Amino acid sequence: MTDNYVAKRLKVNGIVQGVGFRPFVFQLAQKYGLKGEVANTSAGVSIHVEGLAGHINSFEADLAAQAPPLAYIVDIVSQPGTVKQFSDFAIEKSQGESRMSTLISPDVSVCDDCLAELMDPANRRFHYPFINCTNCGPRYTIIDDIPYDRPKTSMRYFVMCPACQAEYDEPTNRRFHAQPNACDDCGPHVSLFDNHQNVIGKHNPVDQAVDLLKQGNILAIKGLGGYHLAADAANTDAVRRLRRRKIREEKPLAVMSADLATIRGYAAVNQEEEQLLTSIRRPIVLLRKKTPNPISAQVAPHNNYFGVMLPYTPLHYLLLKRDFTALVMTSGNLSEEPISIDNEDAFNRLAGIADYFLIHDRNIYLRSDDSIVRHIAGAQRFIRRSRGFVPIPVFLKNEVPPVLACGAELKNTICVTKQDKAFLSQHIGDLENIATYDFFKLTIDHLKRILDINPEIIACDMHPDYLSSQFAAEQTAIPNIQVQHHHAHVVSCMAEHKLEGDVIGLAFDGTGYGPDGTLWGGEILIASSHEFKRTGHLATVAMPGAAAAIKEPWRMAISYLQHAFGDDFQNLDLPVLGEIEAGKVNVLREMISRQVNSPLTSSLGRLFDGVAAICGIRKQVNFEGQAAMEFEMLAADSTKQMYDYQWVTGENHQLQTAPIIKGVVADIQSRVPIAKISAKFHRTLIRLFAEFCDVVRRESGLNRVVLSGGCFQNATLLSGLIQALHNKEFAVFSHQQVPANDGGISLGQAAVAAAMAQGA
Ligand code: ZN
Ligand code: ZN
Ligand code: FE
Repeated sequence: MTDNYVAKRLKVNGIVQGVGFRPFVFQLAQKYGLKGEVANTSAGVSIHVEGLAGHINSFEADLAAQAPPLAYIVDIVSQPGTVKQFSDFAIEKSQGESRMSTLISPDVSVCDDCLAELMDPANRRFHYPFINCTNCGPRYTIIDDIPYDRPKTSMRYFVMCPACQAEYDEPTNRRFHAQPNACDDCGPHVSLFDNHQNVIGKHNPVDQAVDLLKQGNILAIKGLGGYHLAADAANTDAVRRLRRRKIREEKPLAVMSADLATIRGYAAVNQEEEQLLTSIRRPIVLLRKKTPNPISAQVAPHNNYFGVMLPYTPLHYLLLKRDFTALVMTSGNLSEEPISIDNEDAFNRLAGIADYFLIHDRNIYLRSDDSIVRHIAGAQRFIRRSRGFVPIPVFLKNEVPPVLACGAELKNTICVTKQDKAFLSQHIGDLENIATYDFFKLTIDHLKRILDINPEIIACDMHPDYLSSQFAAEQTAIPNIQVQHHHAHVVSCMAEHKLEGDVIGLAFDGTGYGPDGTLWGGEILIASSHEFKRTGHLATVAMPGAAAAIKEPWRMAISYLQHAFGDDFQNLDLPVLGEIEAGKVNVLREMISRQVNSPLTSSLGRLFDGVAAICGIRKQVNFEGQAAMEFEMLAADSTKQMYDYQWVTGENHQLQTAPIIKGVVADIQSRVPIAKISAKFHRTLIRLFAEFCDVVRRESGLNRVVLSGGCFQNATLLSGLIQALHNKEFAVFSHQQVPANDGGISLGQAAVAAAMAQGA
């Protein structure tokens, strides 16, 4: 033995179990001739190595740099150890605790090695739709409890054949301890049914399913995190039928294509978007349409974008082999209910939509919708964070007490915290029906169980009518902290970026409960994690008809016109006024002036709706934000002009919208194209908010601006405002790990509640 024969102990924290980490360590130790052992522990993976110091250094460097694709390393703690004269390097059985509280990997797409085997006629898993290995396949959606071992997953019903078992037991095999390991002899199978639950043929159900899709049928297809409804995206008749049966009038439908080259035939893909599309997380990526393109106009009407994803399960690859340009792959649900995951439930709920069912017998324990992302201003932005990303935690700046945050009403997610980690759930949906509320409760139980978390504090929105707030109020055993909606938005972004102290927070969205009895949504706050002050907001206007004004933007048009012009607005020469019955306008005017069913709002989302309706974009919408979205897409970028704006100083600053409305009306009367009006409107808002931040900076000395709320899904507003604030030398923070919309708000609620509890 020489002097530089040494020992080291390494502790690796992160997602390092069930991802092939120990075999990877084993092989790395072989490579450098090191002796010792590796084992799973409650905190992650623990390694003892001994050998030449130089070799141990190389081993350590490779450990982080070459980790398996599913591993997610948070940190590696390295300490000198005692040389114990190991004779070889071994993988030890799991150590210690009965309940292993480790991090679980999300479900990810099939890997290249498995894909090659899938398509190789000589391989024993040729065309087997459930092929997987330690580097790929289902995880989160098949786990029922911890520790993550086969008996705790939905694979427990399948006993491995000798060939599969041998792979599973052999440390150097790429299927060593791959819990979902299976083959055609021992694993799950697909079968094809009609919508009366009759089996259609027993041979080649996948090929038959492809034939049926080619013929224009709608298929319910069981996937990784739930059912999809599939149809040939180039077949307008099929897509139209799908929309009618699913009661989904105009909301865009996601599509899936076999490869990038096919996608480039109908959508523009830049380098960053290519990276998002091909990542193992396989989100739906919003891509600009090419015109003309071979996809049916029914897929994403009145929209410049397609939501596109690449295949992520072996079954998807088999379905897409036969030259479809794209398949519509939309959530297997009726309207806004949760997606089906259970075969019986799918037959019950989807038989009126799908002509045929391609199902399988591996249970999905927890549904997880496809994630949706868009590349804006140099970064990936989530519209929905679900499959492929959940349950990767957001790492917080400090350790916090265990909190359960219940989220908001729409696009609900929940969040639980443990030490310095915040776990956001998959997308739960709009808490407006019993099915979604049940899923909400089930997800809370499930996350508490698989993460081994016992919340000591519960956090929710201040809105007393939200089902999520009512659920929180019912949990009387632990303290309940109500968090203001826009404060939670701002703090969700602060938590992502580990910000402490006070910031200028811009929280722009459709609606949120304000403590003063109005509906907030165009808020400039001075906020820290535990408190906030409203320093400015958009001028309040009436929302005649309350919730009806969200579905019918023409109501907001009337409200903004009356706000800007008084009752004289009826004499304006505006096409939109000619399209609404005079009687209706009068009723609305009365409602507003008598304050009947017309709550006041400072929402930027409603301002977008109102301006879009004044411009004649649409008087009614099929989904929230549709008018604003179409208005944004029309913006043509050439103009440098702007509308007038001003703010009024009082107890807090009011940003006046009347001058903007007057400018828009004047432009419409002078026949300025809507594309130019939209561009001017966006430029105006960007300048207004940036200049207002300057005022707040002068008053408060704060230089950090945090952007949050659903309005920041507007790419023109987000990228324009980031640029304008950078030009003024602000430090700007926007969402990259969780959605800017209400899907990210549970993180902010958890962080606020934790900060309040810690008395920060
Ligand atoms: Zn694989
Ligand atoms: Zn087998
Ligand atoms: Fe919101």
